[in-house]
Amino acid sequence: MQTYQATPNALQNKVILITGAGDGIGRVAAITYAKHGATVILLGKTTNKLECVYDEIVNAGYPQPAIVPMDLKGATKQNYRDLAATIESQFGRLDGLLNNAGILGSLGPLEHFCSSTFENIMKVNVTAQAMITKALFPVLRKSENASIVFTSSSVGRKGREFWGPYAISKFAVEGMMQTWACEVGKTNIRVNCINPGATRTSMRASAYPGEDRDKLATPEDLMPTYLYLMSDDSSDVNGESLDAQQKK
Ligand code: NDP
Repeated sequence: MQTYQATPNALQNKVILITGAGDGIGRVAAITYAKHGATVILLGKTTNKLECVYDEIVNAGYPQPAIVPMDLKGATKQNYRDLAATIESQFGRLDGLLNNAGILGSLGPLEHFCSSTFENIMKVNVTAQAMITKALFPVLRKSENASIVFTSSSVGRKGREFWGPYAISKFAVEGMMQTWACEVGKTNIRVNCINPGATRTSMRASAYPGEDRDKLATPEDLMPTYLYLMSDDSSDVNGESLDAQQKK
């Protein structure tokens, strides 16, 4: 999918929610979706980062976005219900959900993992994604053709030493995607995963502080796959875990 070329209006009239839209891959996905015609709902923890993305989108002349400041670590069932109700009243439906927000926690041997770090990673990377997807499912059902995309990692497909709770959380994400995909079957909703691969963001920098950032792919390089899974060109794709970068 790295060679996929979306038409300029590929996401016209679509309403797409992106979690972790204030920074890194989520920020670039939000701007890219808006550039292709989508009205994007920017969800993230840090309000001023979301406001910067909002300004960037509006100043570029793309459809006016919405902002939802929310800390996924502490979000409650009621927060998710309110979010679904607001989307329903303002837009009537949701066409896309990019579950992108994630945290790395600290790397190290599982023998020494810290239980509170483990819980926080599971809350943000797994529980929040399960809860937001469940809460938004009824508004996704109102779309003609909806796409749910989870964000995985290569350490969520094959175990790797010292990636600890983060790797466990990404295995859970792959499993969540597959389970959803089986349940949605041949409906108006499809559910897939993207493995971004090593990408130049602050999360990557905290995992590999000594690495030469210039050698890494940028979030922009990944966008063909992110666009593909949100556009109607992937209508028949369900239950797949795609790599956003060519294997080297
Ligand atoms: P960044 O750390 O650059 O961005 C993460 C985003 O998630 C930020 O916008 C952040 O918001 C948001 N976020 C974190 N915690 C919360 C929270 N509690 N509530 C709401 N939002 C939150 O990460 P990347 O862009 O690199 O990663 C994006 C996704 O891609 C993640 O799921 C990651 O696991 C995955 N991934 C990344 C790879 C890489 O090499 N970069 C490789 C493989 C997978 P704020 O800035 O406000 O904290």
